[in-house]
Amino acid sequence: MAELGTTERPLRVAIVGSGPSGFYAATALLASEGAVHVDLFDRLPTPFGLVRGGVAPDHQKIKTVTRAYNKTAAHEDFRFIGNVQVGRDVSLGALLYSYDQVILAVGAEADRSMGIPGEDLPGSHSATAFVGWYNGHPDHQDHVFDLNTPTAVVVGVGNVAMDVARILAAQPDHLSQTDITTRALDHLRTSKVRDIVVLGRRGPAQAAFTPTEIKEIDALEDVDVVISEGDASLDPASTKWLDLFGTKPNRQNVEFLQSIAGRTPTASRRVHVRLLTSPHALLGQERVEQVKVGRNQLEERDDGSLGPVDTGSREVLDAGLVLRAVGYRGVPLPGAPFDDRRGIIPNVEGRVVDGEAVKERLYVVGWAKRGPSGLIGTNRADSKATVEKTIEDRSALPVVDRPMLELPPTTVSWSGWERIDSQEIARGQESGKIREKFVAVDAMLDALEQGG
Ligand code: NAP
Repeated sequence: MAELGTTERPLRVAIVGSGPSGFYAATALLASEGAVHVDLFDRLPTPFGLVRGGVAPDHQKIKTVTRAYNKTAAHEDFRFIGNVQVGRDVSLGALLYSYDQVILAVGAEADRSMGIPGEDLPGSHSATAFVGWYNGHPDHQDHVFDLNTPTAVVVGVGNVAMDVARILAAQPDHLSQTDITTRALDHLRTSKVRDIVVLGRRGPAQAAFTPTEIKEIDALEDVDVVISEGDASLDPASTKWLDLFGTKPNRQNVEFLQSIAGRTPTASRRVHVRLLTSPHALLGQERVEQVKVGRNQLEERDDGSLGPVDTGSREVLDAGLVLRAVGYRGVPLPGAPFDDRRGIIPNVEGRVVDGEAVKERLYVVGWAKRGPSGLIGTNRADSKATVEKTIEDRSALPVVDRPMLELPPTTVSWSGWERIDSQEIARGQESGKIREKFVAVDAMLDALEQGG
């Protein structure tokens, strides 16, 4: 039989998940030596993962990263296989039978919970659900967000918390030309939310948001970021920590928060940053009405970082909507090992492992590999590193016949996605928006048929 990686017998690699980490893996594979054919699977008919379903509608510049992915998709040895869920429509075993190597790029689709009483009351949602809802993700269209309340609480001070706080705080016209769904925009137009309280369990030096994100909120029309002088000040441990370990963004966050601390807000919509504050319970009869919070102080942990410790002091905040933005979490993929504690696919440098044993020909990239951290660009180097491992392992691959995988009839190709894409853009133009997304898989498939 012909050698692997030759025109007679190209190396066949399947990637599961077409978000940034999947696309960067495809790009690195197609740039590698030899004949390599890449099939990129997605459970949705649409590609791009969190770039489409996660990045906020008013962050269109970030979404231009898809231009690079389009170039990869134009490669003659690339195929997009949309609307096929690995683990449901085809098994991981079947992929490993049909492909020489399989790379999992399945991200971290679920959210972490806070683990406090009342968390499941109506009115309490994950930020993941809210983000998916306004971004038209088919999984998240059934949620109902009651915005008929003056105050919302957002738990967490990462960039997802900033996104949801900004979407809640912004004047609807800020979003009207974007690709937010019209349904979400119409609902936001009726919103009574005027105060958004963002809770950070540690201090200003440990805020996980990037300086641009917090400043962007304050720069919105008729929106002020509000923080007390006490919350913006550093305790001695944080001053020391910032000197020793602080990054430039950590310092810029502190500088910004201290520069606005204590001022009287004049805007009609306000985002209050409350630090050293943890939620302890969500309270309410039928639905969330209040959040019981507690004050923390910081104490040094064994690894030198500063952790929150409850001081015992309590306060109750009124809030009719609570969004927890305390981090994403991976979900198990049937047939693949899963580290339940970390919410990732266990691996050594991208090679999937089950206990001590390496799972032959199976790899992982992105958030499924390292957990939900880093910006889109972080995935480029991360995916490249895993692809280098796949290249190292090529010479040991068995040279066997690999029958083509049988695909369900409803598979969506790249040209199918392009037809969906152009129809979404045309729908958007009708209402002065850059795009009006199809928010249900059936609607996407109907559009495909109509689009010929
Ligand atoms: P994140 O950056 O890890 O932030 C999670 C936040 O939740 C932290 O403030 C964390 O506090 C807090 N938290 C965790 N558990 C908590 C608990 N039990 N109670 C209270 N607070 C808790 O995660 P993320 O915001 O989901 O973002 C994920 C990644 O995507 C990040 O790398 C982010 O930068 C990126 N992202 C970027 C953008 C953008 O560039 N615009 C937008 C969205 C997301 P501690 O620090 O104390 O743990």
